[in-house]
Amino acid sequence: MDRTFLMIKPDAVQRNLIGEIVTRLERKGLKLVAAKLFQADEALAKEHYSEHTDKPFFNALVSFITSGPVFAMVVEGNNVVEVTRTLVGETNPSKAAPGTIRGDYGLDLGRNIIHGSDSNESAEREINLWFNESELNDYKLNNEKWVYEE
Ligand code: GDP
Ligand code: MG
Repeated sequence: MDRTFLMIKPDAVQRNLIGEIVTRLERKGLKLVAAKLFQADEALAKEHYSEHTDKPFFNALVSFITSGPVFAMVVEGNNVVEVTRTLVGETNPSKAAPGTIRGDYGLDLGRNIIHGSDSNESAEREINLWFNESELNDYKLNNEKWVYEE
C-alpha cells in the first residue's frame, strides 16, 4: 500500500466542504491514516511549496495557505498518488473535469480547494513535514477484501 498527503485548503475549509471531500475519499475505498485541522505558519507553507519559490504566484500562495486552517490528511491505498491526483483534478479548477474535486467545487487557480502530492517522493516528504510519526495510524480496514481483489 502507498501513502499520500492531501490538504483541504483554507478556501474549502471556509466553504464547509471538508465533509464532502472526505466523503469522496472514503467512498472511493481509500483509508484515512491521519487527519487534522491545522493552521500552518509561514515557514511550513514555504517549505511545503519550496519547488515554487521562484514563481510569481509564490507569495500569494503562501499567504493563501496560511490565511486560515487547512485540513491535512494522510491517505493510503494501492497506487494512491495517481488515484488521488485523478480525484483532485487539474490545477486550474475552471479547466478541471466535472467529477473531480477541483472541477466540481472550484473556479479560480488561486482558490483550488485541495492539494495532493504529485509523486511517492513528494508524498513522503510532505507527510513528514506535516505529521509526526505518532500521528499516523497503523490499522486495517475490515472491508479491504471488498475493495481490493487481493
Ligand atoms: P498542483 O500540484 O496541481 O497543486 O499545482 P502546482 O504544483 O503547479 O502549483 C501549486 C499550487 O500553486 C496550485 O495548487 C495553486 O494553488 C497555486 N498556483 C499554481 N499556479 C498558479 C498561478 O498561476 N497563479 C496562482 N495564483 N496560483 C497558482
Ligand atoms: Mg504540485
